[in-house]
Amino acid sequence: MNYQQLNLEKQDILIIDDRPDNLRVLSSLLTREGYNVRKALNWQMALTACQTVLPDLILLDIMMPEVDGYEVCQRFKAWDLTADIPVIFISALDDVFDKVKAFRLGAVDYITKPFEFEEVVVRVQNQLALRTAKLEIIRLNSELEQRVKHRTWELENALQKLQREIASRQQLQDKLLDIVLHDSLTGLPNRVLFIRRLGKALNLAKQNANYQFAVLYLDCDRFKVVNDSLGHLVGDELLIAISHRLQSCLNSSDTLARLGGDEFGILVENLTDISSAIQIAEKILQQFSITFKLSRYEVFMNASIGINWGNKHYEKPEYLLRDADTAMYRAKALGKARYNIFDPIMHLEAIQLLEIENDLRRAIERQEFIIYYQPIVSLRTGKISGFEALVRWQHPVRGLILPSEFMPVAEETGLINAIDMWVLQSACHQLNTWQTHSFVPEDLTISVNLSAKLFNQPNLISQIDQIIYETKVNPSNLELEITESVIMENNHLVRTIIEQIKKRKIKLVMDDFGTGYSSLSYLHSFPLNSLKIDKSFISRMQFNQENMGLVPAIISIAESMNITVIAEGVETQEQLAKLKKLNCNFAQGYLFSRPLEQQAVLKLIATAPQW
Ligand code: C2E
Ligand code: MG
Ligand code: MG
Repeated sequence: MNYQQLNLEKQDILIIDDRPDNLRVLSSLLTREGYNVRKALNWQMALTACQTVLPDLILLDIMMPEVDGYEVCQRFKAWDLTADIPVIFISALDDVFDKVKAFRLGAVDYITKPFEFEEVVVRVQNQLALRTAKLEIIRLNSELEQRVKHRTWELENALQKLQREIASRQQLQDKLLDIVLHDSLTGLPNRVLFIRRLGKALNLAKQNANYQFAVLYLDCDRFKVVNDSLGHLVGDELLIAISHRLQSCLNSSDTLARLGGDEFGILVENLTDISSAIQIAEKILQQFSITFKLSRYEVFMNASIGINWGNKHYEKPEYLLRDADTAMYRAKALGKARYNIFDPIMHLEAIQLLEIENDLRRAIERQEFIIYYQPIVSLRTGKISGFEALVRWQHPVRGLILPSEFMPVAEETGLINAIDMWVLQSACHQLNTWQTHSFVPEDLTISVNLSAKLFNQPNLISQIDQIIYETKVNPSNLELEITESVIMENNHLVRTIIEQIKKRKIKLVMDDFGTGYSSLSYLHSFPLNSLKIDKSFISRMQFNQENMGLVPAIISIAESMNITVIAEGVETQEQLAKLKKLNCNFAQGYLFSRPLEQQAVLKLIATAPQW
């Protein structure tokens, strides 16, 4: 619609009449009233007038030659520019004027001739006022529409902003949740999230008899050795490498979590039978047989795995995990680097382990410990050169318990000090008793194991002095076996203790050599008398006839340091032959004798065996 005419100051009226006198009369009347009046004698002139400027009102005569008023009206109504302009018909009283037809064609009013002047003015004013009002409504409507549009746009903008805000908050919340539920080192789910997933699996199993799952609990074997000897940074690097390797053994639907330290949990879902959980454990163990290549080191790391078959009768997910943990401990006790499947009996055994601690405290007072002695043979002479004292626990109910079962508890609880000092005292005393027999060589040695835990006790030396004094043992017949973790500590206290030991002419043996990660530079700075090669190296020699493994290297290191070598765990003639060939100084193992009770030792010495 064209609103141009609204801006004109005067309202514009177009009169269409074929009679000029009529035009003149009307025009002067309306001009006097302040309107702008234009005149047209026929359709053609009227059209031209409208094309120039659109009028506000049209006064239209009916009776005109060629195109009559009805037709003119019809044409204006059909043209969208003029359709809204009000049309008032003018008819002479004697015209055959069809009012119905006029209104039907869109006319708003009619005036009859001869004119009643005031009537004309009033009718014109009315129509113009009506038109002004209509146009105002249209204008207001459009303004309103604009405002609504603007407001809608503003609202949409605000809404979008709000949605962006919500999204960013959601992201932040997700991030926080992520931090709370994940391990920061490996990025894996942590224990909390793992327990949640276990809980979900447990619920699913309760609802759906066909849903089956398994929990695996994995603990690295001797991870502490890496941490202690290579440092925590390397330990961290190794943990990340381990997590990647574990992930590669699993399906995307399985959950791998770091439960803490060197422990990982695996939830395997949608199982059909337990063999698939076992397959995963086997795959992991096989993967762990490959070295982990870290940025500066290459490290071997085995793991022990406990498997617990998801069972809907569990009350809490924590119990599922606890039992997988128990099975893992059993795998460790059975020799590590293996898996074990949970059996409810194990839960009882785990409780028994707790009882061990209590029993152990009483064992010291009740003198339930007993020492077995294993001969150490000189490979130069083939004769017994000494004995290693190996403690056992004569449990009143459970019978003879080996150190592997109670030593960790003893070390954890601090009872180790009392045990080791008792062993040292008894073994020294025993040596003196043996030496009262003439067939016992004077230089027979006694080796006693000392836990690394003892080396942070400033009174260790005074305790040793006390024992030497009481038992009157010759200190040069005494050998103390320590592990690599002692020299890795390498602090002032350790150094002083070692110095004091050396001052007393007591010999120092590095036990289980090769199983730690101690560097050679450390070895050099410690006044060792012997290296005891761990039995794992000796047993490996047997598998491969050609390859001697690290044994020749260890022996030549010892030679270069001017210290002797003891081979531990010698079980076969082949091993013995090889060790002799390599100039190994001493050997110890089942091939010669198992650890013996003290009465059997005397008999053995009396027979003066020679290998
Ligand atoms: P170890 O000091 O390395 O002792 C050698 C272990 O190997 C002993 O196990 C011994 O029985 C076993 N052994 C000896 N010959 C052979 C063989 O030919 N083949 C195999 N497979 N094994 C053999 P045991 O007596 O069970 O002692 C285990 C560990 O417990 C010892 O390892 C030692 O670290 C610790 N231990 C024993 N007695 C004491 C002690 O009084 N104090 C401390 N702190 N630790 C002790
Ligand atoms: Mg030993
Ligand atoms: Mg050993």
